[in-house]
Parts: sequence; structure tokens; C-alpha cells
Amino acid sequence: MNVGQHRWIMHVDMDAFFAAIEQCDDHGLMGKPVVVGAQPGGRGVVATCSYEARRFGIRSAMPISEAYRRCPTASYIRPDMSRYAGESRIIMNVLESISPVVEPVSIDEAFVDVTGLEKLFGKPEQIALLTKQRIFEAVQLTASVGILTSLPWEPSTSSAFFSILTPSLPRLSMRTTFWNPT
Ligand SMILES: [Mg+2]
Repeated sequence: MNVGQHRWIMHVDMDAFFAAIEQCDDHGLMGKPVVVGAQPGGRGVVATCSYEARRFGIRSAMPISEAYRRCPTASYIRPDMSRYAGESRIIMNVLESISPVVEPVSIDEAFVDVTGLEKLFGKPEQIALLTKQRIFEAVQLTASVGILTSLPWEPSTSSAFFSILTPSLPRLSMRTTFWNPT
């Protein structure tokens, strides 16, 4: 089987994007439940919430009244879309520094074709790690990166990838996964 015949696609998804930006901007919010969206007492829903808020069962698209019932002490912040769009542009530029084929899916998510980039950056899992590093250096935010491939599933590759991520980058997300769509 010729590896070169198979495509390697990265899926990059920022972690709790809006809430993570708010926590980055105000370190007093770090480690605390943060809900970005409508204001309690009004109508509307949760746009994004921090992982700390998710522990209370709060989720994106949940009515804000339900979020408030679950965690009244959370910080409720109105979205600043121009601020988030600015961060998104920086992140997409980082992705374009890796590959010319970047397909944004949303403000915080994109598919990146990394087929044939081994000589430049190493194996796909190394490219994924490099991507996470470059994003973190650029915006101090963590991303989850998955890799889709038409190659057969290789569990050993996956566990090797996890061990690469652990020691040097404790703040980066550990939710990086491999999956095979076929
Ligand atoms: Mg996301």
C-alpha cells in the first residue's frame, strides 16, 4: 500500500473558543465557569461555555435561563464577535502557514489537507502537534486536532501520539484523536 496515495486531512477545532478568549483576556476568569451568550433574565441561549461551566451541565444552545438555574454564580458575558473574528483570522493564518488547502467550517473550526507535507513537517501526527503549538504561540488558546485518513486504523500510532503530547505541553488539550471515516 502506497502511503502517498492516501489523503491526510486534519480537523482543527478550538476548545471552548469564545469562553477561552474571555478567560485569556481576563485571567480572573481562568478556572471558573464562564458562559458566553445571552444575559440571565433575558431571552436567548448559550453560545459557548468554559469547561468549568460544562461540569454544571451547561451546553451550547441551552436556554440561558436553564444555564442560570444550573450555575447562577457563573460569569455571563455577551459575545464580542469582532474580537472573536480577529482571533479566528490569526488562527486561519496559522493553518495557512501549514498547508495551502484550508477549508474553514466555522469561526473556530477548519479542515486542513496535509497530504504530501511529510517532507516539510514530518508525519501527520507531528503536523498536528506543530499546528497546536503554532496556534498556542499565536493566540494562547488550545485547539483539538483530529486526523482523518483513508489508511487502516493503527492503534499504536494513536497511543504514540498521546505520549508525544503529554510531557512538553501540559496546557494543550489532550483530546487529540485519530479516526477513520471509512
Ligand atoms: Mg470549537
